[in-house]
Amino acid sequence: MVINTDLHSHSGYAGGVGTISLENIEKTMTLKGIDIFGTGDCLHPKWNKHLKNILIEKENGLFSLKNSETDKRFLLQTEIIITVDIKNARKIVHTLIFFPSFECVDKVTKCLESYGMKNTVGRPFLKCNNNIDVSNKLEKILNLDDLIEIVPAHIMTPQGVFGSNNPVYSMKEFYGNVSDRFKAVETGLSADPNILNMIPELDNISLISNSDTHSAALNRVGREFTSFDINKPSYDSIINCIRNRKILKTAEFNPEEGKFFLTGHRAGKKDHNDSYCVFSPKNTPPTKICPICNKSLTIGVLEQVKKIFDMQIKNINPEDRTQLKRDFVSTVPLIEIIAYTLGIKTVLSPKINSIYRDIIKTIGDESKLWFNSKSDIQKRLSGVVDDILISNIIQVKDGCFGFSPPGFDGTYGDLVIGKKIDFNNINTIFCNPNQTVNIENNQKKLY
Ligand SMILES: [Zn+2]
Ligand SMILES: [Zn+2]
Repeated sequence: MVINTDLHSHSGYAGGVGTISLENIEKTMTLKGIDIFGTGDCLHPKWNKHLKNILIEKENGLFSLKNSETDKRFLLQTEIIITVDIKNARKIVHTLIFFPSFECVDKVTKCLESYGMKNTVGRPFLKCNNNIDVSNKLEKILNLDDLIEIVPAHIMTPQGVFGSNNPVYSMKEFYGNVSDRFKAVETGLSADPNILNMIPELDNISLISNSDTHSAALNRVGREFTSFDINKPSYDSIINCIRNRKILKTAEFNPEEGKFFLTGHRAGKKDHNDSYCVFSPKNTPPTKICPICNKSLTIGVLEQVKKIFDMQIKNINPEDRTQLKRDFVSTVPLIEIIAYTLGIKTVLSPKINSIYRDIIKTIGDESKLWFNSKSDIQKRLSGVVDDILISNIIQVKDGCFGFSPPGFDGTYGDLVIGKKIDFNNINTIFCNPNQTVNIENNQKKLY
């Protein structure tokens, strides 16, 4: 059977947006077609206690809400932040851990506390001295239980192992030898298999996708997910698929929409007012300095991945590369497509919600929108919703969409349906007329 999993989330204890309720999450999972969801923050004492109160184990390592009559399941998961001083600066890397049982969570918590981890925030910090120290500490955790799985999280964002903050050019440089035991990495919102296929070190590693949601909203839960084909759902069967590289496919948020796709500085940043700048890799100023505020630009994923490729390919014969086949679909959250079609800026309108529910009633759940054929979707939705909306959904399924501008420096990309946007030539300095800018030879200022 095919199951859809979204195995990275956060509770209200991880800071950021609001609080999460697994009861609400369960309702959203039903609409989105997610079968198994990561609990988030399961090391945090209060969230851990809450999880123990509301969850009951149904299959090995899979839990449901106590009074639930649905087949929706939860899997124990956390993200930790590992920090190491590299080249005289701190490197921060988010890392996922999956657990087969509450007993195992308790064992790992004790072990991490013995390393000095302060378990006071949802996403706790583990301070390490260097990559050998990271490796030793993670090895000890992995050795606590055969079924614990460690997965580097959203690897291309600034807080991912290949992120642009204090960059490293191989997993080993940060994680040390324990990286040989990693069987998967998480793509994150700003990258997809097309981008990660560039990195030779990942050629034989599974790619998994998760939403990293902090809320139960329809455009957050399951905005990325991973499908597995398993005989019977259980924690072991999912972990075995990851270890044996049996990922059926991933559903990917388009990287161009992700918050760190291109290089730039967003409006509203210190000394920026409403001015911003955004560059594709070939147009980034060679100094990597922002022409508006004169500080270092936030380097985007596209630029970063090219740099990693250049560094890794030096030691490899490109003809020797054999790569796992990675099936995926590129998606846009359905409520964003509806909002775009109606010309409404916020996705929280009751009108959008009512159209969303009409569509789901007709097709079953949102995952079917991406996995079923175009003709099937067209046939089912005909007469149920407006033809323009159906045409926009089909165009997204066809890949005929883009973002103008794409995401950069912490801002999401702005959706455009009906054409592709050439992101290779972006060279924009949008400037408040009162602001002075340092312009490189080839760059133009826009007002
Ligand atoms: Zn993270
Ligand atoms: Zn700036």
